[in-house]
Amino acid sequence: MNRPYNFSAGPAAIPAEVLQQAASEMLDWHGSGMGVMEMSHRGKEFLSIYEQAEADLRELLAVPQNFKILFMQGGGLAENAIVPLNLSRAATVDVVVTGSWSQKSLKEARKYASEVHVAASAEDSGFTTLPDPASWQLSRGASYLHLCSNETIHGIEFHELPDLRALGSDAPLVIDFSSHVASRPVDWSRVGLAFGGAQKNLGPAGLTLVVVREDLLGHALPACPSAFDYKVVADNQSMFNTPPTWGIYIAGLTFQWLKRQREGELSGIAAMEARNVAKARLLYNFIDQSQFYVNKVSPNARSRMNIPFFLRDESRNDAFLAGAKECGLLQLKGHKSVGGMRASLYNAMPLAGVEALVAYMQEFEQRSA
Ligand SMILES: *Cc1c(COP(=O)(O)O)cnc(C)c1O
Repeated sequence: MNRPYNFSAGPAAIPAEVLQQAASEMLDWHGSGMGVMEMSHRGKEFLSIYEQAEADLRELLAVPQNFKILFMQGGGLAENAIVPLNLSRAATVDVVVTGSWSQKSLKEARKYASEVHVAASAEDSGFTTLPDPASWQLSRGASYLHLCSNETIHGIEFHELPDLRALGSDAPLVIDFSSHVASRPVDWSRVGLAFGGAQKNLGPAGLTLVVVREDLLGHALPACPSAFDYKVVADNQSMFNTPPTWGIYIAGLTFQWLKRQREGELSGIAAMEARNVAKARLLYNFIDQSQFYVNKVSPNARSRMNIPFFLRDESRNDAFLAGAKECGLLQLKGHKSVGGMRASLYNAMPLAGVEALVAYMQEFEQRSA
């Protein structure tokens, strides 16, 4: 079946092979007589799905043994509360504001942390640049520093995570990697905790991934709900309450799909990274040479996953979207707070999808001249 190319920012496209496998197992998973949604989360069938998913993710992302992998619920936005509830203790929380998502994190942290400090902000640039880590104002003895490593709405990505120790801080780095998890490797030596909703690059909405260094567990504020206390979740293998079993299953199929990916000599996440670099380069290069389209993000901060762009003649927006849909190019409308267009190029988007988009953009530009 030939499906259209889906550029949604999230919930986003899932590899067709994953959907096909899930469909074929829907009524009877591996001869168990049950679909995955109908299984006890404590039964041996689901436990085998869970353990495989966790092991595959640990391998793919090279998660060190002193980090716990937690499968939670509530999405990225709930983690904006759950992180300060678990990690803030009585000290100051630092936040780097680089777009809409870190702005939300800042606001939510203020509800739970005794003090929240903006260590750096890119707001003056209209969120088109990344503040240089050397200029960040880090609080002494901060309980952690939060940043969003890929700003889904503004299309800004940290191409390298900051090394807080080199900046003179012992604070653990917390990253919201919702929209670029599994698109490239993670340097865990620089990270204390990473969280992300699954619906961008891992699977269906309803599952939240948390990867947390063990020494950060066990310091939750008294008001922290037990189901959101990382130590309780970790001690119960993410089964203090019923975990999002369907989401874990689909994410697990996606991890297996990722492990099968090859790009020349590369496999897994390294293969995805090479492919993602090529996809993003193709689209940015096309936009940059065009007089008709524009992307305003400074080149060293541009996201590989989410590429917002504008038609210089915004009166053509509706025609652009309608024509795209006719060509089988779906969900290109930009976020309402930014306007214009946005192409999200997650792992499930093949290079051929970006080639089709560029061909359409070229054709539309000529037609509009
Ligand atoms: C989508 C997104 C979120 C929000 O996730 P929810 O699951 O809707 O709570 C948070 N952070 C980033 C960077 C995102 O892209």
